[in-house]
Amino acid sequence: DTGDSRLFACRFYSDLDRLKLMREKEMENRMQDALNAGEFVVYLQPKLSLKDNTIAGAEALVRWQDPEQGLIPPDEFIPFFEKNRFIIDVDLYVFEQVCMLLRRWLDAGLTPVPISVNMSRAHLVHSNFLDTYKAICDENGVPPELLEIELTETLVFKNPDMLFQVIDQIHRRGYRCSMDDFGSGYSSLNLLKDLRMDTLKLDRAFFTSENADNPRERDVITSVIDLAEKLSMTTVAEGVETEAQAAFLKEARCDMIQGYVFSRPVPIPDFEALAFGRACGPAGH
Ligand code: C2E
Ligand code: MG
Ligand code: MG
Ligand code: MG
Repeated sequence: DTGDSRLFACRFYSDLDRLKLMREKEMENRMQDALNAGEFVVYLQPKLSLKDNTIAGAEALVRWQDPEQGLIPPDEFIPFFEKNRFIIDVDLYVFEQVCMLLRRWLDAGLTPVPISVNMSRAHLVHSNFLDTYKAICDENGVPPELLEIELTETLVFKNPDMLFQVIDQIHRRGYRCSMDDFGSGYSSLNLLKDLRMDTLKLDRAFFTSENADNPRERDVITSVIDLAEKLSMTTVAEGVETEAQAAFLKEARCDMIQGYVFSRPVPIPDFEALAFGRACGPAGH
């Protein structure tokens, strides 16, 4: 009978909601200690240059290494940390870890590859957050051109004026600026004209066919890459999983790929082995 099933549905959803609230409460209680204890760990995913097949950069991606639950992927805690704004502390921590890592590579006489970090929209309301970043960068004596800041496409629609200012400030501090997840939402090509980004990251949503053999799909990807090149932007294709996709992207003159076809995000010593042929210890954690 309908009345009963509606009642059941209500209870079912409220149980799920309660579970989610409990989980969020638990994260809220533990997040600060976890940060202090170094449970947030930076992984690096290489960006492969399609010109010469060398590692030309990396993206820093955070994980929560929980002693009881194991490795928790960012999708399970970042949306909540964006809500309660703890992501500001996490992003700052990631940035500092990346600066310390670049310092270690420089000290070891290696030629570091640039590393990009993700920046949550939660930062944008604090106009002075980039001063803190600059202080950390200077403290470690890291040349700012080794750092790139990734801003997501979805940010753009929320408050374009604020975004223009942030991009300008990022550039004034000497960092490169990257538009992440381009093509995942309702991207406007017009935005590319107004936003002075150095790098365009094509979201993996561009690939709906595994083998990149859909002609319409290929035409769209090629056109976006051509346009980015005309605007002097570096192109990075994200989520590239197959050799066929990589071959097509090379043909389409995409600059770099970042995806499982070459490497998943890996712990720092594993990245060092990939990029430099050896680990540079002491390990990140
Ligand atoms: P993102 O910035 O777009 O990062 C790329 C995501 O795509 C990563 O997921 C990466 O592991 C995944 N990926 C890379 N290659 C492939 C592939 O070939 N196939 C598939 N299926 N996936 C691939 P991850 O590490 O789970 O991170 C998810 C998102 O969480 C990131 O998306 C970013 O928005 C956010 N995130 C991660 N770390 C941070 C951080 O330190 N701060 C902030 N604010 N956000 C972060
Ligand atoms: Mg990113
Ligand atoms: Mg992305
Ligand atoms: Mg993403």
